[in-house]
Amino acid sequence: MKKPLLPPATIGILGSGQLGRMLALAARQMGYRVHVFSPDRHSPTGQIADQEFTAPYEDLDAVRRFAQSVDMVTYEFENVPGETAVTCQEFAPLHPGPQALHVAQNRLREKEFMVKHGLSVAPFVAVGSLASLTVGLEEIGAPAILKTATSGYDGKGQEKIVNRQSSIVNRHWDAIGHQPAILEAFVDFEREVSVVAARGVDGSFAHFGVIANDHANHILDVSTAPADVPPKVAQDAVEMARVVLEALDVVGVLCVEFFLTGDGRLLINEIAPRPHNSGHLTIEACATSQFEQQLRAICGLPLGDTRYLSPAAMANLLGDLWFPHKDNPQSAIRTPQSPNWTAVLAHHPAVKLHLYGKTEARPGRKMGHLTALADSGEEAANIVRDARRRLETGD
Ligand code: AMP
Repeated sequence: MKKPLLPPATIGILGSGQLGRMLALAARQMGYRVHVFSPDRHSPTGQIADQEFTAPYEDLDAVRRFAQSVDMVTYEFENVPGETAVTCQEFAPLHPGPQALHVAQNRLREKEFMVKHGLSVAPFVAVGSLASLTVGLEEIGAPAILKTATSGYDGKGQEKIVNRQSSIVNRHWDAIGHQPAILEAFVDFEREVSVVAARGVDGSFAHFGVIANDHANHILDVSTAPADVPPKVAQDAVEMARVVLEALDVVGVLCVEFFLTGDGRLLINEIAPRPHNSGHLTIEACATSQFEQQLRAICGLPLGDTRYLSPAAMANLLGDLWFPHKDNPQSAIRTPQSPNWTAVLAHHPAVKLHLYGKTEARPGRKMGHLTALADSGEEAANIVRDARRRLETGD
């Protein structure tokens, strides 16, 4: 095995949002240096990094300068252009490798990959034209979800098709901009769960068990761990995650998101070859966080102990919290207001507040999160929900 990359080596991160920020915090805690590359200045990750490179991802000269300045490159979001990642590889190892990025960047490739490896997904067809959408709807039936093959996240680039009338189908096709897409059967799931797992350079495997995820408006709202699922479901979900990591030859952390149906079947919805929003609670809840685990994996260090010190829950804080009166047309308050941090810290002294250093709050934008530990996941979820409510109401 190659020698591990030890501190004070420099980790290069492509992308500069909150995932990069929390990875950078873990890296700095362990004595690594961090360089970040993205089109943004004073970004959430840039605020923590030793050096912030600001240029478009397509500026390959700038990408080369960045890659020459680091000992290894990783990415914090999967929509990094493939060419950018491959260019970095001229100068430094890239983990997870370009194959994971290639598969995760395209929903059609992702689904075909799952099928090839015997992993269950919702029935789907490839859509490249209005005609193929119409034929696909006959095969899949309604309701179905039309999803752009690329660049979709948090429900963006998605259309639920309930009615197969041609004028309505036409409108859905217009709404996604006539882009290559997949049509997927609508899954009447009981709940959504995820497995965040890691694979080391030596093929070692570690996971954080099954995490239960509640969404609101297609965006993750509250995650709870350990998820209250039967042991067989937990075992199958972890095994499916292991198959994905191995088949993609991932070195690093990867999250698999699942739909769990009422009859106990697990269907993979999507994968993310990086730490994931549902794993944020591991910062406080586990012996090793998903961010430290990512760092250990990509640096070739032994994977850390993923044991839970306590059940936990996490609630996302979206920019909507900064606009408490946005639904009231009479309200004169249209400018963002900082939520009432004092109220939540006073009522819940054990709740942990994470803010990502984003200067502009916008509805739907992930601005931070709250984590609570408790005797059960359900109790922890009640605490973070109550804490977040106090941020809105200030009581
Ligand atoms: P995605 O961007 O594919 O993760 O979708 C965002 C959210 O939309 C998911 O977490 C689900 O809550 C919902 N969703 C996506 N695909 C389906 C589906 N085939 N059936 C039911 N709900 C879905």
